[in-house]
Amino acid sequence: MDRKAGGRPAASPRADVRLSILIAVTDANTPELGDVQMHAVRPKEPVIGRVVASEPCLNGRSASFVRHVAIDVSGTPLAGSFRAGQAFGVIAPGEDSRGKPHAVRLYSLACPSKGEDGEGNVVSTTVKRVIDEYTPQKGDEDDSAHHLFLGVCSNYLCDLRIGDEVLVTGPAGKRFLLPADPSLHDYLFIATGTGIAPFYGMVRELLQGPGGPCQSRIELVMGTPYTTDLIYDEFFDALAAEFPNFNYHRVISRSDIRREYVDRYIERNMDDGFREHLSDSRTIIYMCGLEGMESGLYRVLARNGLTEGYMDIRDPMKLEDHENWDTKDMKRSVKAGPRCMVEVY
Ligand code: FAD
Ligand code: NAP
Repeated sequence: MDRKAGGRPAASPRADVRLSILIAVTDANTPELGDVQMHAVRPKEPVIGRVVASEPCLNGRSASFVRHVAIDVSGTPLAGSFRAGQAFGVIAPGEDSRGKPHAVRLYSLACPSKGEDGEGNVVSTTVKRVIDEYTPQKGDEDDSAHHLFLGVCSNYLCDLRIGDEVLVTGPAGKRFLLPADPSLHDYLFIATGTGIAPFYGMVRELLQGPGGPCQSRIELVMGTPYTTDLIYDEFFDALAAEFPNFNYHRVISRSDIRREYVDRYIERNMDDGFREHLSDSRTIIYMCGLEGMESGLYRVLARNGLTEGYMDIRDPMKLEDHENWDTKDMKRSVKAGPRCMVEVY
């Protein structure tokens, strides 16, 4: 074998060229996210915003309550400093059970990077009231208790009226972002419930943002318990009718006709477009919502030989054993790849 000084094998010029092409292709497919600002307003020094809109945004009469809440942050460091996909913080007034001021709660931005006003002055989110019967969370709690449980911040935010002041912080998050040049990629957005929030901002940014509608292929898959729980449904439906490159898929988990989760829906429709979409190295997956959706989707990708770029499988997990993957082990050893953005909890 021909050897260069230092004992390294000399690569043929052709191999060099091939290597550089390979690197270029890999780099081109890894989304370039551009600059992002974090914590322009820190939780210790929140700023005052003012509510400018609060509207219910479910499809019909549901047992849940979800509102689109918009807050004017003009004149604060938060104005103009956020990007679609990031979150902002809200601090509810009052104290928690330990007598400490309430901790900040994060809410995904539901607006494009230019805000609801096009000038970066109005942020918005999609907030669901946490309402339940009390269930003991720790061993030392009274297990006969079952009074009404109301989440502190979600109900505070939903109760606010137009003109009310609210303490806000942020922005937070540095990876769940659209690429700096959106035209270089195609998109698969997967949401469960209020996980739709960032996609309401991103899809508007792509299709209605400055510079004209993005021509990339965009698939949005939205999972809710009932059709009445669909959020911004009419808006996405109208957008799908207007833009041939945008498709909107509703997945209903408690339907009388078909009970399905988003991952199973994608798998069932693999040969109706999802395989082609996912096989294309331009495609970026974004998923937001319930934690369980992440492992479900990874299993579907693994079963269908579509892991490349989307999943990073570390030791001791092996791709060939994917049918036996344990969800707890997956959390440790299966991570999002460069073309997969995840916001779940
Ligand atoms: P809390 O008062 O904090 O109560 C919830 C807590 O109480 C739970 O964590 C649990 O410990 C406990 N609990 C829950 N149920 C019960 C029960 N039945 N009995 C007893 N205890 C119970 N939410 C949205 O609605 N929209 C968003 O866009 C959004 N984006 C988010 C983005 C990020 C990055 C993160 C981290 C969270 C996001 N959330 C979003 C969730 C949000 O931050 C809050 O966690 C949520 O609104 C609940 O807060 P809360 O103050 O109303 O409830
Ligand atoms: P929801 O209306 O209850 O809808 C969730 C849907 O997902 C239901 O249809 C549910 O089905 C289904 N589902 C349950 N387990 C699943 C799994 N393993 N895989 C796929 N689908 C599954 O949702 P929600 O109450 O709004 O809750 C949404 C979650 O997203 C919350 O935890 C919220 O805090 C989180 N969220 C996160 C962010 C973020 O991180 N940036 C932003 C917004 C929201 P069944 O109920 O019928 O089983």
